[in-house]
Amino acid sequence: MAERLARCDVAVVGAGPAGLAAAGEAARRGARVLLVDAQPMPGGQVWRHDSAHGAPPAARRALDAADAAGVRLLPRSEVVGHAGGRLFVREDAAALSIDYGALVLATGARELLLPFPGWTLPGVVGAGGAQALAKQGWPLRGVRAVVAGSGPLLLAAAHTLRRHGARVVGIHEQAGREALAGFALGLWRWPGKAAQAARLRTALWRSRYLAGSHVLRALGDTRLEAVELAVAGGGRRTVPCDLLACGFGLVPNLELAHALGCALHDDGPHAGVRVDAQMRTSVEGVFAAGEACGVGGVDCARIEGRIAGRAAAGDADAALALAPRRAHARRFAAGLRHAFALDPRLHRLACDDTVVCRCEDVRLGALAPFADAREAKLATRVGMGACQGRVCGAALAELGRFPRGGFRPPVFPVPLDVLASFGAADPSMTTRTGVHP
Ligand SMILES: Cc1cc2nc3c(=O)[nH]c(=O)nc-3n(C[C@H](O)[C@H](O)[C@H](O)COP(=O)(O)OP(=O)(O)OC[C@H]3O[C@@H](n4cnc5c(N)ncnc54)[C@H](O)[C@@H]3O)c2cc1C
Repeated sequence: MAERLARCDVAVVGAGPAGLAAAGEAARRGARVLLVDAQPMPGGQVWRHDSAHGAPPAARRALDAADAAGVRLLPRSEVVGHAGGRLFVREDAAALSIDYGALVLATGARELLLPFPGWTLPGVVGAGGAQALAKQGWPLRGVRAVVAGSGPLLLAAAHTLRRHGARVVGIHEQAGREALAGFALGLWRWPGKAAQAARLRTALWRSRYLAGSHVLRALGDTRLEAVELAVAGGGRRTVPCDLLACGFGLVPNLELAHALGCALHDDGPHAGVRVDAQMRTSVEGVFAAGEACGVGGVDCARIEGRIAGRAAAGDADAALALAPRRAHARRFAAGLRHAFALDPRLHRLACDDTVVCRCEDVRLGALAPFADAREAKLATRVGMGACQGRVCGAALAELGRFPRGGFRPPVFPVPLDVLASFGAADPSMTTRTGVHP
């Protein structure tokens, strides 16, 4: 099998709000832009296509703008590696290489999942994971759902579940009432966010929202039957349910940035790609935008995408003109981090016999003898399964066990025949790829 080869001026990895904005801005400045995303439809996490309700208006506008600017989209395409100005992309069973002039990393974030007793029972999923499944048509009518964990994603997930027919019996936010009240009082500086929060709360008026409350364990024999929760004031409550959607915030996707050698800012498990005012990373010609640089929400992702797209197309002045808007959006992100900081009690939910690495079935107690992640890997296989430590790596960093790291190419698992065909480029196929002819 021969690999196909594409060339473009600006390659953008990730077709979420940041990547769509970056691609559109660069294309409007005359750059030939190729936008690559692993998902079948563009939109990223927040604008993930909803099979029942379609895409939200903001997503449709962003897609139309990128399309009108001449951006070429490559869906179902995973960037799995990189070498010397060339991206290696897996498109299902085919290999594609992309040579670029400038590269924008808009790879977004993923959920932080923390282990607790019972979290591997069928019926327990991440909050964002439940949201994604609902949008893909997962049958939820009449399902009793508890949403727990931390951050604004809980409300968004609860709303999606309810919209798809689930009965949301409770939303349990670990952050305390005072922290939330302080955050809400400051929201007047971001009226769009205040309006969004009010809309979600109104839509969810039937569902109980408890601050200072967190999951203790999921109960059930062969599948989830109930969840035991700690509530403010020291009490406990057991809530019968069919679905527990539980997430503890987000962490940036760093695998590709790491493969490229981009410096990160030092922020423990929440570290993101370090960028300057033009969204330039520490690597020449490589830019980053959105949640890959640190979790900040959709507005922040869009403004950073616009800056990165302008700068990648060589329009530094226009990029810098957006710096005040970026600073405003990042102040919101800082407030978010402060208000939803995780309670250290959440670090103690898992017991010695709680599975932490679900791919390789490694329990927390098995890691006790190891101070070093590499040693633990060699002895227990923690983080060496199909997800390549995407779940347990961030969780163990949050629990203070091992720093987040150990990223290795390929970024996603690749079939051997696809892997083997990288480097065997067939130049006759160059014009058949998705870039401008
Ligand atoms: C599960 C989940 C659900 C969320 N739901 C909401 C919500 O309902 N409301 C809300 O306001 N915010 C939500 N967020 C927060 C959301 O991430 C941001 O608000 C916004 O989507 C960030 O935009 P972005 O462009 O930076 O990244 P994203 O939207 O995350 O887009 C990143 C894109 O990069 C692609 N990608 C990553 N790596 C590669 C690779 N190697 N090769 C190819 N493609 C790649 C991914 O497929 C993804 O489409 C959610 C976050 C998560 C993780």
